[in-house]
Amino acid sequence: MARYIFVTGGVVSSLGKGLSSASLAYLLKSQGYKVRLRKMDPYLNVDPGTMSPFQHGEVFVTDDGAETDLDLGHYERFTNISSKQSDNITTGRIYSDVIKRERKGGYLGKTVQVIPHITDRIKEFIKKDITNEDFVICEIGGTVGDIESLPFVEAIRQFSNEHGKSKTLFIHLTFVPFLKSSDEIKTKPTQHSVKELRSIGIQPDIIICRSQQSIPLDQRKKISLFCNVAIDNVIETVDVRTIYEAPISFFNQKLDKQVLKYFKIKSKIRANLNPWKKITKIVLNTKKTVDIAIIGKYVNLKDAYKSLDEALIHGGISNKVKVNLIRIESDNLKSNEIKKRLKNVSGLLIPGGFGKRGTEGKISAIKYARENKIPFLGICFGMQMAIVEFARNRLKIKNAGSSELDKKCYPVIGLINEWDKDGKKIKGTDKNLGGTMRLGLYEAKLRNNSAINRIYKSRTIKERHRHRYEVNNNLKNKFEKKGLIFSGMSPDNKLPEIIELNNHPWFVGVQFHPEFRSRPLAPHPLFSSFIKAAKNLK
Ligand code: GLN
Repeated sequence: MARYIFVTGGVVSSLGKGLSSASLAYLLKSQGYKVRLRKMDPYLNVDPGTMSPFQHGEVFVTDDGAETDLDLGHYERFTNISSKQSDNITTGRIYSDVIKRERKGGYLGKTVQVIPHITDRIKEFIKKDITNEDFVICEIGGTVGDIESLPFVEAIRQFSNEHGKSKTLFIHLTFVPFLKSSDEIKTKPTQHSVKELRSIGIQPDIIICRSQQSIPLDQRKKISLFCNVAIDNVIETVDVRTIYEAPISFFNQKLDKQVLKYFKIKSKIRANLNPWKKITKIVLNTKKTVDIAIIGKYVNLKDAYKSLDEALIHGGISNKVKVNLIRIESDNLKSNEIKKRLKNVSGLLIPGGFGKRGTEGKISAIKYARENKIPFLGICFGMQMAIVEFARNRLKIKNAGSSELDKKCYPVIGLINEWDKDGKKIKGTDKNLGGTMRLGLYEAKLRNNSAINRIYKSRTIKERHRHRYEVNNNLKNKFEKKGLIFSGMSPDNKLPEIIELNNHPWFVGVQFHPEFRSRPLAPHPLFSSFIKAAKNLK
C-alpha cells in the first residue's frame, strides 16, 4: 500500500504549502520513489473553472482536461509528474456527489451526514486510482480551524486511524513570526495552531515552521516540547531568494530524511539537487534583462497568470536573461498610447482571456508588434485577436471579429459550425453559444520547415487547451496569401492550432496554453524561442 502524507497549514494562509508539498515530492521522487500529489480544496465551487482570477488566481488545466487549483501547477513544475482530474477535489464536488447518490437512493434510506458520508467520500478521493505509488502527498487547502476544512481534517484523521501510523504521516506547516519590537521569534501561534489540530484528533508528526529568519535551537526545542514533536521533526523553512531554492532548502533541513526515517525506509538513490542549484544560480546572478510587455485583464493580480509568469522565467533561464515583465492592463489601454508603451519593449505577449473588455487595445498592440517587427506571442485569446487584427488590417474585412465578443461581426473567430464555407456567418447560430470547451491535451500537426516546426523540432505535438472558440479555417488561403501561415493544424486539418507570420522576426499565435507544460528544469521550447528572439532584438 502507498504511504500517505497529509499536509495541513496553520496560523495564516499563503505560507507555501503547495511549494513545500511540491519540494518534498521532488526530493522523494529524485530518491527513486514514485510520488503522486493531490489537493483538497475546502471551497464550495465544484471546480475552480468558474472562479474569477480576481478571487483565486489562474485555473490550471491538466492533460486530461480538468480545470484545477493552481497549486497543481506548482506540483507539476517541481516534479514533472502530470496531474490528473482525480488529483483535485473541492467541498462542492464532494457534496454534489453525495447528494446525487442520495437522490438515486444510494444510501438505502439512511440519514445522510457529514460523518460518515461526506468523510467517506473524501477518503474515497484520497485513495482513488492509486496503483503502484510509493507516496501520495495530499495537501488540504485553507488553514486548520476554518469551518470549511473540518470535514477534510476529520477524514484524514479517520484515514490514519484505519490504515495505521506506519502508512500515514501528518505534516503541519505554520508561521513563526519575528517581533521586531522585542527582537524575538514567537512560537505561540504555532503552539495554538497545533492545539487546534489536536483538538480535532490530529497530532502532527512533522512541523514545518515558516519564518523570516533562522529559528534558534531554543525556540525549536520549545516547539518540540509544547507541540509534542521530536526536535528533529521541527523543520524550519526560511524565506528563499527564489522558489527554485525551495527543494535545496528543504533538503538541507532534512525534511525528506525525516519523512523516510518516519516510514522506516531508506533512499534508493541519492537526491540530485544539482539542476536546482544550477538554475538558482542563473536566476540570482543574471544581470542582463529583456523587457516583455504583457497585456491582459488581470496582469496586476499576483497568481492570475501564474503558469505564464513561470514559463517566461523558464524561457529566461534557458537564455540566461532575466525577463522583466511590463504589465499593461488592457482595460486602460488607449490605442493612441500603444506606441509610447511598447516602443522600448523587446517582446509582446497577449495571454488567454475571456470577454470583450479591453480587446480593442490588445488588437492595436498586436498591429504595432506586427508592423514594427517586435517579437509577438499570442496565447489562445491572444492568437484569436491576432487573427482578428490581420483580417481587419491586411484582409480588409473591416467588421472581422470574434463572435464571442460581437454577435454581428464577420466571425473570423467563432464556434465551429458557425460559418458557411465562404467564412460568412450562418444566421441563427448564436443559439449555439453554450458549446462546450475544448479542454486538455490535443494533438497538432506542424507544417514542415515552418518556424514552429523548427522551434519544436517535431512534426507532431500535444498541448493543453481551454477555449470554446476556434479560428475560422475557411479563410486559410486568404490569410496565407498575405503571409499569415496556419502552420499547425488539428490532425483532421479542420482546426487551426498555430499561426505564424512570414517576414517577421518572431510572430506566433497558438490556440493552446503552452505555459501549462513548461518546467523550470525543462523550459518550454516556445518560451525559450520567444525570449531568445526578444534577447536578439535588444
Ligand atoms: N475566450 C476564448 C475562447 O473561449 C479564449 C479562451 C482562452 O484564452 N483560454 O475561445
